[in-house]
Amino acid sequence: PFFKEFNAEAFPDTAKLLAKLNANENPYGPSPMAVEAFKGATTLGNRYAWKELFDLMDKIAVKEGVKIENIMMGPGSSDLLEKTAMVMFAKGGNVVSADPSYMSLIKVAQATGASWKPVPLKDDWSHDLKGMEAAIDKDTKLVYICNPNNPTGSMTDHAELVDFCSRVSEKVPVFVDEAYLDFLEDAAKKSMVSLVTQGKDVIIARTFSKIHGMAGLRVGYIVAQESTLDKIQDITRGGMGITYPSVYAASASMDDIAFQEKSRKLNAECREFVYATLDKMGYTYVPSSTSFILFPIEMEGKSFLEKMTAQGVGVRAFDIMDKNWCRVSMGTMDEMKIFASALQKVLV
Ligand code: PLP
Repeated sequence: PFFKEFNAEAFPDTAKLLAKLNANENPYGPSPMAVEAFKGATTLGNRYAWKELFDLMDKIAVKEGVKIENIMMGPGSSDLLEKTAMVMFAKGGNVVSADPSYMSLIKVAQATGASWKPVPLKDDWSHDLKGMEAAIDKDTKLVYICNPNNPTGSMTDHAELVDFCSRVSEKVPVFVDEAYLDFLEDAAKKSMVSLVTQGKDVIIARTFSKIHGMAGLRVGYIVAQESTLDKIQDITRGGMGITYPSVYAASASMDDIAFQEKSRKLNAECREFVYATLDKMGYTYVPSSTSFILFPIEMEGKSFLEKMTAQGVGVRAFDIMDKNWCRVSMGTMDEMKIFASALQKVLV
């Protein structure tokens, strides 16, 4: 792998930060409707929420155009990435993914006994689909694609990805992590979910942590073939990890379309502000389809984080291809202004 992260430095004491831009959280959430629903359900917390969870799954099934049997819920999509990895790699094998990409599934695959076959992103930061297909061998148990990708924020061409998933899933299941897809105007059209209804062995992960602003309330789901979910759910129960109030909050948040639109719009405005800031400073960046922006910095990651933290700004730093990079999450516009002035002090 040719990227690494500076972790301990990335999470300073939250209370001391003026702008917390280090975990791709949605600064506007949860939606007021979700908060009300959550509050109203706290006294039900002596019960398991199975019936209510099935109601939520029904609602998600309608939204995604699939059957309830095609859905597995979890306390955030991390849980489902990890459970998928534990089940798929129980007998070893390898996982093919881009590098750099989101490491949650890959790390659990490795810990479970699998090896990782990283395929560098292309120069335009999209997935090297040809390279990934060539990397698949008889031991490959899963291909992991994060689209849009984290930590780069970049997208892979829709038609090429549909083609890749359709063909490759005949040989090996393809896991597509769409955590940030909702920040696109036309997210539904860009999702790989319709491949599930076409019978393809793809697994799509979605989360309430990003556009819904519910990172701390922990709800996510995967959409896949029933037979694939059977393998995972035979030994694990994702729904067991979701709290009663969070089930209600997720359902209410799905109805709050205005909140999602607001998050999308303000996120896009902040992205434009950061682009303009970086342009003015003479810095380049990876054009983002997400709620964060990755850009190269001329400073070693650890000291950059220390200096930004001293300014009250939490961001992330990566070493990618032996260069230093900053990943900044979109906060409120006020937070982005604090970030911009901190950056000018730290980097100039
Ligand atoms: N997938 C990607 C690409 C992410 O960036 C994240 C969180 O940042 C997740 C999955 C997991 O999010 P959660 O477990 O909150 O759904």
